Amino acid sequence: MSVEYVSTRDKSDKVTASQAILKGLAPDGGLYVPTEIPKLDKTFEELAEMDYKQVAYEVMKLMLSDFTEEELKHCITSAYDSKFDTEEIAPMTYADGAYYLELFHGKTIAFKDMALSILPHLMTTAAKKNNIKNEIVILTATSGDTGKAALAGFADVPGTKIIVFFPKDGVSDIQKRQMVTQTGDNTFVVGINGNFDQAQTGVKQMFGDQKLNSELADHGFQFSSANSINIGRLVPQIVYYVYAYTRLLKEGRINSGDKINVTVPTGNFGNILACYYGKQMGLPVDKLICASNENKVLYDFFGTGTYDKNREFHLTSSPSMDILISSNLERLIYRIAGEDDKKDAEFMKELREGGKYTITPEMRKGLADFYGNFADQTETSAEIKRVYDDTGYVIDPHTAVASAVYQKYLKDTGDDKPVVIASTASPYKFTRTVMEAIGQDDKSKTDLELTDDLSRVSGTKIPPAIEEIKSAPVRHKTTCEVAEMPQTVKGFLGI
Ligand SMILES: *Cc1c(COP(=O)(O)O)cnc(C)c1O
Repeated sequence: MSVEYVSTRDKSDKVTASQAILKGLAPDGGLYVPTEIPKLDKTFEELAEMDYKQVAYEVMKLMLSDFTEEELKHCITSAYDSKFDTEEIAPMTYADGAYYLELFHGKTIAFKDMALSILPHLMTTAAKKNNIKNEIVILTATSGDTGKAALAGFADVPGTKIIVFFPKDGVSDIQKRQMVTQTGDNTFVVGINGNFDQAQTGVKQMFGDQKLNSELADHGFQFSSANSINIGRLVPQIVYYVYAYTRLLKEGRINSGDKINVTVPTGNFGNILACYYGKQMGLPVDKLICASNENKVLYDFFGTGTYDKNREFHLTSSPSMDILISSNLERLIYRIAGEDDKKDAEFMKELREGGKYTITPEMRKGLADFYGNFADQTETSAEIKRVYDDTGYVIDPHTAVASAVYQKYLKDTGDDKPVVIASTASPYKFTRTVMEAIGQDDKSKTDLELTDDLSRVSGTKIPPAIEEIKSAPVRHKTTCEVAEMPQTVKGFLGI
């Protein structure tokens, strides 16, 4: 069976998986979605005997059906190697009644590495398959973690350049340092005077700007996206939910077919959507618990059926979730609208023009798989402390939002099925917030210096990613206004 991809806003035009990966965003501004979601064709018992790379192949072969076995296996082995600090790639820690699925063992110690370590390989393979001669220019807007993970993934990959825009005052010190010290002659990093949504909108506009695109083509370049709107990001994220389930099975914590719940700290709705796709592929997930911080637009959406971004934007201790336009939600909207592209396009037009839309009562029934809630900064901080006091395990603020929301879910429903909490960043990335929460903050120290203290109190080793940036020189100093983003790109490309 061959899965093809169509735009959420116009499903008449079908492309292959490799073409969808190359394009990133569909020409009409929609997101590529699979024409159908295939079922897993191995049993959970069989998958339980496989390692991460093998599970990755079994999942990805179904969704990326125009890649040959050899191509896909090459991409997978190039991605999930010693760049990760554990052979398990995504290990689980049981703490205080929940399984924390640690997705932060890659190069940049956040879950974005799970997909961004393979995307460059998928993309260069896709370019070869489609006889693309242009150099690929990756444009990325980041709320903090994507940027560094994309830079690390694409640095010095032949035939590519990568340009990352981040909100100058909207990321943590360590996140910023990680980006501005990035090596690689093909890497460019820009701080914008604006927030993440403005960075993301600016990038989307450049993708849709025909004049800019043809100027690029004249100079042998073409844009692509490493943002989670790219299906090459989404598909590798399905893998770790399947992997987590089959590890629980292997360890005898569940029986095959038992349902589990999954809690995901959510911003752009990519990670949780991957789990939703996993469920459609046959993974026995019951509730998808969608955790937001104070930017709780999704919580309100699940509660009311109205998505409304017209509200105050909060900078929080979980910056990678400081998002008011959750791009990947469009893929869910398309699906619960019965794959009605016209309806989807209308909602997105309303969102663009008025900042909100309301789905139909019929569509709301499609949200039954989801439970939404949020945790404010006080609750998030209290959750870091609670888990630490009870178990000695230190979680980062994003994971803590998920963990706190899971506690609310338990209280609300009493549903205590085994739960996997997506643990999306290492606490070493957010030392100030974490040390403050557990009451061991030393104000005289910088965020970086606090990594030694964190190592002491948590009994864990400082990850190599942190050791590296301690001494690395700053290589990127460009800043710009939102309106200057296209000009900045052209400047980098010399056109
Ligand atoms: C990106 C990110 C999230 C949000 O994931 P989405 O796929 O955008 O919903 C959560 N936590 C961390 C640490 C992240 O980097």
